[in-house]
Amino acid sequence: MDLHAPIKDVERAFKMYSGRLEKLGIRTPWDFLLHVPSRYEDFSLISKISEVQSGEIVTINGEVLEIKNQYTRRWKTLQKAKVTDHSGEINILWFNQPYLVKNIKEGDKIALSGKVGSDKAGLTMIAPDFELLTDTEPIHTGRLVPIYPQTRGISSKWIRRQVKKILDEIPPNFSDFLPSEIIANEKLLPLKNALLQIHFPKNLDEANKARERLSFDELFLLQLKSKTKREEWEEEVKGIPFEIKKFEKELPSFYKSLPFELTNSQKKAIEEILKDLEGYDPMNRLLQGDVGSGKTVVATVAMYMAFLNGYKSVLMAPTEILAQQHFGVISKFLSPFGINVELATSSNRKLSIVSGKWSILVGTHSVLFKKIEPEKLGLVIIDEQQRFGVEQRSIARLKGNNPHFLTMTATPIPRTVALTIYGDLDLSYLSEMPHGRKIIKTWLVPEVKREGAYRWIEKEIKFNKTQAFTICPFIEESETLISVKAATVEFEKLKKEAFKNLKLKLLHGRIKAKEKAKIMTDFKNKKFDILVATPLVEVGIDIPNATIIVIEAAERFGLSGLHQLRGRVGRSDMQSYCLLFTESQSTKANTRLKGMESLQSGAELAELDLKLRGPGDIYGTAQHGMPKLKVASFSDFSLIERASTQAEKILPKLSKFPALEKELNNINSEQISPD
Ligand code: ADP
Ligand code: MG
Repeated sequence: MDLHAPIKDVERAFKMYSGRLEKLGIRTPWDFLLHVPSRYEDFSLISKISEVQSGEIVTINGEVLEIKNQYTRRWKTLQKAKVTDHSGEINILWFNQPYLVKNIKEGDKIALSGKVGSDKAGLTMIAPDFELLTDTEPIHTGRLVPIYPQTRGISSKWIRRQVKKILDEIPPNFSDFLPSEIIANEKLLPLKNALLQIHFPKNLDEANKARERLSFDELFLLQLKSKTKREEWEEEVKGIPFEIKKFEKELPSFYKSLPFELTNSQKKAIEEILKDLEGYDPMNRLLQGDVGSGKTVVATVAMYMAFLNGYKSVLMAPTEILAQQHFGVISKFLSPFGINVELATSSNRKLSIVSGKWSILVGTHSVLFKKIEPEKLGLVIIDEQQRFGVEQRSIARLKGNNPHFLTMTATPIPRTVALTIYGDLDLSYLSEMPHGRKIIKTWLVPEVKREGAYRWIEKEIKFNKTQAFTICPFIEESETLISVKAATVEFEKLKKEAFKNLKLKLLHGRIKAKEKAKIMTDFKNKKFDILVATPLVEVGIDIPNATIIVIEAAERFGLSGLHQLRGRVGRSDMQSYCLLFTESQSTKANTRLKGMESLQSGAELAELDLKLRGPGDIYGTAQHGMPKLKVASFSDFSLIERASTQAEKILPKLSKFPALEKELNNINSEQISPD
């Protein structure tokens, strides 16, 4: 069996299920082997029938004395059997599986695992798992039995059988792609043992050792892949080294022209960028910083340096509005230094491109992607891109010369995750906010204090003339009628009861765009006090006078989501507040929400969320192009570290390990930083 062939070509049985298997991410037999159990059912207690007690979970090995269908009212069926093992007899009961009488015959040797109950007829096993005993080792009974992540129409039992079939086909000379020195240094299991033991372990220790090996492989291959990609990129591509020493003396007067002092992390990021620009390898750096941390000015310094070196820069923004905003800001910063900044929007792109006199061109990704003048292009800045690396490489391939790349993002990717997946990017972090911003005071408010909180909000609004948001519970991924209704109910309630002396307005996705805009303008102009909104509605407009945000059912959000919402306030020098309410009694949920009280940075919160909930929840529906790990976990920092160290060590001598190279090619490169 070719472990890497498409699953539907391998077996008839697989072909029928290939659609459903695809849903589980299983495309080849190898994927099947890496579809690891989510847990194990412990059926390892094998008991004589005479010793079985009611309430126990046991396995019985015996012989079928009788089996029959019994029809009940409403066309339901029971399957009743009697099994003996010479120490005694026990009744077996299944529900609605009439075909069982065809599969199990009197006289068959059978193993049964499950819970024992008792009724009038005596001890009875209720709906046990079973398998007929042959001379092969049992897989569904009498042991730790693997339970798999399931999907409709595919049961754990079916998966178990297929996995066993594939495992049996692994040839004895099956070679391990991992260099033996790594296996030895890291004290890992050989690959074949790991595969056998993750599915059919003798005990949990074996299962854990197996999981360690397979997790290591996954993290190791991901990191090695991105490291090799980086090497190739650097070899293939000769960049444009800027002269930095010569022009650095121009920077202080630029800094002086700014209406603020740079933060230390901005200075550090600028230093890192200038160092990259000096090199022969094109810069490929990710600048990560919270919303409002001041990434634009950092990018502006890089573009200024490109200009001083006689090169053009392009800045790509995700939306028209952001492009316009950037254009305004950057023109203001750089026009005094005689730099021609132009805006390329879909309506006027011809003009911008034809004029060709720009030194800096700002536009949306889609407009600029195909339209950049290659000549003298020295630097490309990509703002708020979600799948880093995509555009870099496609642009580089399209264009003859190899500009430096700076990607900027506010997505709080924990460092460990970034290093694992985006190992081919260098990272700069803006870890501090500009001076003078006040910390947003955040409280997790117990339900008993709700009334008090409402009175306090009312006082704040009346006496300090501020405004507030209240965010309704998050109900569904999309804004359906249900969540609109819920928001409406909440709005009516607040208006009639808690805040009957204030002016409130409701905002949700079903309101027409024009009306929405009017509500936002009215709010900005202080025409009402409290905006009640659904979580998904765009409240992106800057309302510096709003200083309070109330978030209902806060436990339903990831910390990053809460952080984004909290960022709607704290946009002035006034003290701002975030009040969280939760219906949840769970300690875990409360620990997470308490994190909001003490942590202010998106990156720290993302890291905490990762620890407490795992990456799936932070990144939701893979919206940031985050790969899904099959076995490993992004929160296993120490294993990530070990895998990274080994990948680094093996990289220079990779060509000596053809099996490993082959395995690297089998990784779907879609899965990691895409190209
Ligand atoms: P983001 O990182 O979200 O792109 P911006 O670059 O838009 O943030 O900066 C947010 C605001 O902070 C802008 O008004 C910018 O002028 C201002 N700003 C940037 N750096 C500083 C600083 N060091 N001190 C004070 N304000 C700053
Ligand atoms: Mg920005």
